[in-house]
Amino acid sequence: MRIPCPLCGERDAREFTPRGHATLLDRPDVDAQPQAWHNYLHLRDNPAGETRELWHHTAGCTAWLVVQRNTITHAITGASLAREAGHAR
Ligand SMILES: [Zn+2]
Repeated sequence: MRIPCPLCGERDAREFTPRGHATLLDRPDVDAQPQAWHNYLHLRDNPAGETRELWHHTAGCTAWLVVQRNTITHAITGASLAREAGHAR
């Protein structure tokens, strides 16, 4: 699998570290019930098909990317810098 880093060009996926869905989660209030914290920390959707994921170019430029990937075919249809996609990392 190859990922098109906007800064480095197309690179092997082994240079990157996947960090899950690129969906911003709503952090519970500090005094929220334990179940709300459990949901926030541990429960994630597992969609089949097109997804947006955060990937870190660990062995490259160290940029955070939002990668559009199909979880069934593993086809990658695009990537952008996370800071330009609304993620501050
Ligand atoms: Zn890069």
